[in-house]
Amino acid sequence: MRVEPSATRTLLDRLVCERLDDAASTAALHALRARFAAGPAGMVHLDANSIGPMPAEVPARMQQVVDEGWRVLRRRGWNERDWLDQPRNLGAAIAHLIGARPQDVRVADTTSVNHYKLLRHALAVATPRRVVIVQREVFPSNRYAAEGLAHAGLAEMRVIDGVQDLPQALAGGDVAVVSLSLVDYRSSERLDMAGLTRLVQGHGARVLWDLSHAAGAVAIDLLGCNVDLAVGCGYKYLCGGPGAPAFLYVSPALQEAAWPAMCGWMGHADTFAFAPAHAPAAGMDRFLVGTPAVLANTAFAAAADIWRVVDPAALDARHRSLTDTLIRLLDEQCAGLGLELASPREHTHRGGHVAVRFEGAAPVAQALSARGVVVSARKPDALRLAAHPLTTRHVDLWDAVQALRQVLHSGEWQEPRFAAPAV
Ligand SMILES: *Cc1c(COP(=O)(O)O)cnc(C)c1O
Repeated sequence: MRVEPSATRTLLDRLVCERLDDAASTAALHALRARFAAGPAGMVHLDANSIGPMPAEVPARMQQVVDEGWRVLRRRGWNERDWLDQPRNLGAAIAHLIGARPQDVRVADTTSVNHYKLLRHALAVATPRRVVIVQREVFPSNRYAAEGLAHAGLAEMRVIDGVQDLPQALAGGDVAVVSLSLVDYRSSERLDMAGLTRLVQGHGARVLWDLSHAAGAVAIDLLGCNVDLAVGCGYKYLCGGPGAPAFLYVSPALQEAAWPAMCGWMGHADTFAFAPAHAPAAGMDRFLVGTPAVLANTAFAAAADIWRVVDPAALDARHRSLTDTLIRLLDEQCAGLGLELASPREHTHRGGHVAVRFEGAAPVAQALSARGVVVSARKPDALRLAAHPLTTRHVDLWDAVQALRQVLHSGEWQEPRFAAPAV
């Protein structure tokens, strides 16, 4: 990599990284690290963009809900525990991280399902407009959802190569909704949420933001940007656990503007009346469909209790310190080894992870894993390193980059044992 000139001209070393962990600006959040379970000794997990770290309380809470809730209380659990309120409580606990009011966020279903639900909601409130704009190089589900709607005759899909194509794609005045990923899942490029939301709305369309690679990593301001709709992943930086339910947000003005795309008993105004006819609940509750996933929500609740005390500005600052350090370490320690930074250098243009381009990204990821450094690769050549602002230390980044340097320098990654594909 190209070495960026630094103001001090001294290279970072391990000791400086240790001091960065103690720096006043990031120390407050660093203390929350103790509320997460330690991983295996010597391992560095830089895969928070796939599965975030586990809060230490998760095993005890799971044990309790299984034992006291399922074994003993059984159906009474619905009355005597917070099971029915979890979608609301979890949404309220993370709302400040995305710049939303607590009552405007729910946690339920998956990101893919919520994305579909909100695309259809946007179509319902935009009649007769029926064009859905999606990005070509986007997380597959987001495009498939639009394709599915088009295939069913419910929408017309328009694909853009990038946001530079938006003005032209919007010009016909026929667009109902534009689906945009705030952060590119490969390069980690972060889009301008405020500017693009204004652009889309200026053409009378709505925007649906997927916040999956940003929520829990960087500060997001949905209300400040006047965003219409948003969804995001619960198991990445938000630490909800493998396959955790996702979140969804609908702006107050749109919540009751139409019936939801999927009507179910949990979205009924009076769930336990078992009324013959549907009557959508007020506000965000109408976007709930079926029974809450109590076990998954219980795991998520351990993370939610941590998020409640996290100041988004402090989170953003620590993320910035970690990822700026990581980029500087890659510059300084891996210069001339064939890596190319794929992510923007400017923090406001970057999402959760840092990506580098390298032809052998997949075998390098495996060679690193064998050395106890967990990262991920995405086709064709992206190597993704995802620190978690609440658990990753600056020294972990130092250790990880030293391992990367050795893997590249020795040519170890070209050994046949690292050639088999992995997730
Ligand atoms: C991870 C991710 C998802 C995940 O969707 P699931 O329904 O949980 O499988 C969706 N969108 C984006 C952009 C993602 O990065």
